[in-house]
Amino acid sequence: MIDLRQKDKLYIANTYARFPVEISYGKGSILYDADGKEYIDLGSGIAVNSFGVSDSEWADAVKAQLDCVQHTSNLYYSKPCVELAQMLCTRTGMKKVFFSNSGAEANECAIKTARKYAAEKHGEEYYNIITLKNSFHGRTITTLAATGQDVFHKNFQPLTPGFLFADANDLSSVEKLVKANKTAAVMVEPVQGEGGVMPLDEKFVKGVYELCKREDILLIIDEVQTGNGRTGKLYAFMNYGIKPDIVTTAKGLGGGLPIGACMFGEKCENVLSYGDHGSTFGGNPAVAAGAVNILNRIDDKLLGEVTKKSEYIFGELSGAKGVISVSGMGLMIGIKTVRPAKEIVNECIGMGVLCLTAKDKVRLLPALNIPFDLLKKAIEIVKAVCNR
Ligand SMILES: *Cc1c(COP(=O)(O)O)cnc(C)c1O
Repeated sequence: MIDLRQKDKLYIANTYARFPVEISYGKGSILYDADGKEYIDLGSGIAVNSFGVSDSEWADAVKAQLDCVQHTSNLYYSKPCVELAQMLCTRTGMKKVFFSNSGAEANECAIKTARKYAAEKHGEEYYNIITLKNSFHGRTITTLAATGQDVFHKNFQPLTPGFLFADANDLSSVEKLVKANKTAAVMVEPVQGEGGVMPLDEKFVKGVYELCKREDILLIIDEVQTGNGRTGKLYAFMNYGIKPDIVTTAKGLGGGLPIGACMFGEKCENVLSYGDHGSTFGGNPAVAAGAVNILNRIDDKLLGEVTKKSEYIFGELSGAKGVISVSGMGLMIGIKTVRPAKEIVNECIGMGVLCLTAKDKVRLLPALNIPFDLLKKAIEIVKAVCNR
């Protein structure tokens, strides 16, 4: 482990502050480090391992595809990719999908689409995109520009122009920006994940939806983190009774392999045409075959369990000693603690529980299928550590 840490520092760009744990294997929501120490995982690789690690059903689906053909390029037709797109459209009411490899790329696609839609419909000067303060939309130069947090912008100027930041849960702040600027789209995360697990109010989301409809502005919902069952619905926008024009997702969709998806509604399903966009790996057959398996298993029964587990966590931690507040939706939970979040997370690691942070909060993103007994055991530990 010491050797590994030294080599990591020597050979890997120092962009990550890693916890002192080397994960070597695991099953479901139990992970083991190189010394064989056991951990209950409440992070699932940042909402990626929807059914935990080395899930056999998912792994079998990927392996079966690997034994057929692992990659074809997008120059040929490929069944897993089409099957996945059809499932996504059927279950969301969206019309078409573009596949990429990450959340940032899914958002890049959404931004390109919104700009082209507005340019054709209203004129090329209608390029502005309104996002929210405290948002997170990715690490590319354009998705950084879309991210409403100055800390991410420092040292990377000039970013892509045309992004404006409104206050979350303040409809008039969005309206003002729309009025003052030629606007192509509004882009929001239903729950601001990296921003500290802050859900948007239903009234605000509905208001933005109505505003966009009225002004013929595209509503882009960034479901990179909130999607794929995480909030107790297949996609979090379904909690709000709205119909977005574009939905982006990534993280949990692939069950552990990289995939991003940008889904288009009626208004913009045919905006991108031949040559407008592309990706070498996007919709890779092995990844898509795994994602088909994941989506198939995110059914009403599982979503009901996500909600029950969420209620359990909220019930245990709200008002607990050392806990100031609990926020979030479904199995995407932020805990504001009396002691610094980092301290709590490090002590939890010592006690065999892996949690994350988001800004000044402890963040929990367990696998959707984490067994109840394991969850209970882990939450008791988190609770005890908060109370220290
Ligand atoms: C993680 C995240 C992204 C970026 O996804 P990558 O796959 O890391 O590019 C974008 N938006 C939201 C809301 C995210 O949580």
